[in-house]
Amino acid sequence: GHFEEHITVKGHQEIEEISEAFNEMTNRLQETEQSRQEFVSNVSHELKTPLTSIKVLADTLLSQEGAPVEMYVEFLEDIRNEIDREDKIINDLLSLVKLNKKEVELNIDKININILIEQILRRLQPLAKKDNIELIFETHREVVAQIDEVKLTLGLTNIIENAIKYNLENGRVKISLDADHKFFYVKIVDSGVGIPKESIDKIFNRFYRVDKARSRETGGTGLGLAIAKNSILMHKGFINVKSKEGEGTTFTLRIPLYN
Ligand code: ADP
Repeated sequence: GHFEEHITVKGHQEIEEISEAFNEMTNRLQETEQSRQEFVSNVSHELKTPLTSIKVLADTLLSQEGAPVEMYVEFLEDIRNEIDREDKIINDLLSLVKLNKKEVELNIDKININILIEQILRRLQPLAKKDNIELIFETHREVVAQIDEVKLTLGLTNIIENAIKYNLENGRVKISLDADHKFFYVKIVDSGVGIPKESIDKIFNRFYRVDKARSRETGGTGLGLAIAKNSILMHKGFINVKSKEGEGTTFTLRIPLYN
């Protein structure tokens, strides 16, 4: 009597546990399916926007009989800008898809991280100069780590580029590098516009932007931080962000020295 009852009860519990786990799994699958559908719909929208502009520009020009040559030039410049934008979205999408594939492996080399960061800063210097933003690199040590140079450069570039883009005129971006026996740490501190509290959890989401207009103005696709996060995660690293609106943002990265 007692023993059997105990078994029955336990059996019930187990079935309940299994059914709960199963429910959770289906929920997660549905969630994945939903986020997949959302992604496809976002991609279509983002890719269509420049095309719509291009069509309007071309149609307008074609409907103007005997338009002056200056108008042609102006419209063609706008069309070229929209094509550049489309190109950037496609390139970012390809980067993201490449970093998202399960079977993608890291191409590990022993890389001097000091030099890697200096190279990124050199490439971003012209962008910083436009708004007279000071780029500062601070470190007390030479860090050599086993990383995928292309993928880490992509991730770091996106984060530092944001620190410049979402900054104020005459602002600054400070990058610091440190390490212990297991990890190296990169900190990117900017004196920029900051991120509102309610947005901070969403900034790594694909296509999420706090300010669509500002992002667009600076050639943003809303994919930069999704790419950066994937790049860091692929290195079994960790990325953290702290921000205060109107004061600035700090990204902290922790990446294993040995991959
Ligand atoms: P985008 O192409 O729009 O820059 P990202 O994925 O790189 O897209 O970033 C998503 C959003 O997060 C940006 O649109 C911006 O609103 C916000 N953001 C990212 N980095 C910063 C930063 N350093 N300071 C303030 N806002 C930022």
